[in-house]
Amino acid sequence: MSDVASLVAAAQRVLLSNYRQAPIAMSRGQGCQLWDTEGRRYLDMTAGVAVCVLGHADEGLATAIANQARRLVHTSNLYYVENQVRLAEALVARGFPGGRAFFCNSGTEANEAALKLARRFQVTTSGRPKRLEIVAFENSFHGRTVGSLSVTGQAKYREGFGPLFGPVKFLPFGDVEAARKGITAETCAVIVEPVQAEGGIHLPPPGYLQEVRRVCNETGTVLIFDEVQTGVGRTGTFYAFEKERVLPDIISLAKGLGGGVPIGAILATGEVAKGFEPGTHASTFGGNPFATAAALYIQEAIDRLGLLERCREAGAYLANSLTRLAERRRPRTRGARGRGLLQGLVLDGDAAPLVNKAREYGLLLSAVGGNVVRLVPALTVGKAEIDEAIEILDRALGDV
Ligand SMILES: *Cc1c(COP(=O)(O)O)cnc(C)c1O
Repeated sequence: MSDVASLVAAAQRVLLSNYRQAPIAMSRGQGCQLWDTEGRRYLDMTAGVAVCVLGHADEGLATAIANQARRLVHTSNLYYVENQVRLAEALVARGFPGGRAFFCNSGTEANEAALKLARRFQVTTSGRPKRLEIVAFENSFHGRTVGSLSVTGQAKYREGFGPLFGPVKFLPFGDVEAARKGITAETCAVIVEPVQAEGGIHLPPPGYLQEVRRVCNETGTVLIFDEVQTGVGRTGTFYAFEKERVLPDIISLAKGLGGGVPIGAILATGEVAKGFEPGTHASTFGGNPFATAAALYIQEAIDRLGLLERCREAGAYLANSLTRLAERRRPRTRGARGRGLLQGLVLDGDAAPLVNKAREYGLLLSAVGGNVVRLVPALTVGKAEIDEAIEILDRALGDV
């Protein structure tokens, strides 16, 4: 396994070539650090794409997973799963009173469930069966399966797959007038990220999501918040919508939910939840004892370690450091933006060369929205690690 070149060659023979991958493979981790198969250390500001909220190789998570695996990994949803019920209770108690949960295995599946539920609610339950149109936003990202892809507002992801799910109407994100005009009595549902992450870390203007909520209420439209990336504390509150003082009708979650163990979920209000009756939707693996044990451990750890507060503090420190770096490195940089530990450094051009250079220097980052370098470290990240990341970024900026 230590010969990366032969691993890459084998991968190119037996894997589909749908990913653009760096020519390294990781062999172990600890907190915000990773070591590759050749023993090189990296500081990880990607956390597996905003997934590993406790960092790598967390001892408590490892124990919770191991203990559950020794008892029961999977039973299907033919029977009740106790962990699933406890997890639903915990997610509802985080700030979605009266909510009901459905569990699946990824972000895109959570959005599929959200879209199907919204459709079924309008078509069979709300008395508005003609309402089929989904309103989504330019620059959004909701996943790669056909339904989620259809509402993803980036043409490059949708091209070449033939007819997708629809009708879908895309509106400019953050434009109040466009929302007032575009969300109508024909609209089934609006799907929106509280902070657009993959599209380049775009924050909504103050009051914007409240206005979207108001128009949805007025028109009887189901409001879906895609919190797959922003949820589970990433922006400093458990749900990003808490800061906006607005409640959606459906929330989708995934990335951070299991701390790296694949699990997705939707929560729906009691009213909208009526759209699903027995037989209308399902997932074989969804909410299995193993994945929900991991997610329950994450729930407990967030409180025990005070991770929401730590995320707000570390996020402010990171945002500050990035802003100062951006000022020092003008005109290569245009600024920094984000919320909590979802932060971006905005460049004057393609972010990929900087990401590659930083990796050579031992810092892992990812590029989003073309010209933005994204930093989404574990919620446990320390100030010294942030300082180290800024120092390497600065050096890499000097070189590209
Ligand atoms: C990552 C992401 C998804 C897709 O999640 P997968 O688990 O990759 O299917 C959907 N929505 C948002 C906002 C995301 O960031």
